[in-house]
Amino acid sequence: MRTENQEFTFTKLMTCGLCGSGVSASEKWKKQNNGNVHRYVYYGCTKAKDKHCKCGYIEEKEIINQFVGLMDKVSFDDNSIQQKIKSEVERIKKFNNIMLGIKEKIEVKDLDIKNYAKYILKEGTEVEKRELLGCLKTSIFLANKSISIKPQ
Ligand SMILES: [Zn+2]
Repeated sequence: MRTENQEFTFTKLMTCGLCGSGVSASEKWKKQNNGNVHRYVYYGCTKAKDKHCKCGYIEEKEIINQFVGLMDKVSFDDNSIQQKIKSEVERIKKFNNIMLGIKEKIEVKDLDIKNYAKYILKEGTEVEKRELLGCLKTSIFLANKSISIKPQ
């Protein structure tokens, strides 16, 4: 359902890579051939700093795909999100071990954390995604239909 003061997942996390303005989002509804109506969310430069910015627009689904690809390159804030993800992964592993009857020590590797981050990006709630990306030690830029990150 559409709400009046809707928030978009990624707007506050990104900056235009061409002119340094903020990023805003808009939604469009398209009717498909089978009669279903599909929601698309597009992100683009607010053009606050450059009225003629050529940043272009990118669909939210594509942003998520690109973030998933970037997860292998980023580092997370050790104190907050990493601990949270770690305990969540531990919980899942414990459950798996019980189901499979395995009695070994639970170990959470860096790879587990990155895989869990990818899972959140694909399946998590808006709040979970924002929380995750907000904890990255990087700045996120949008330009020419692609996301790039720079260490802060
Ligand atoms: Zn721009």
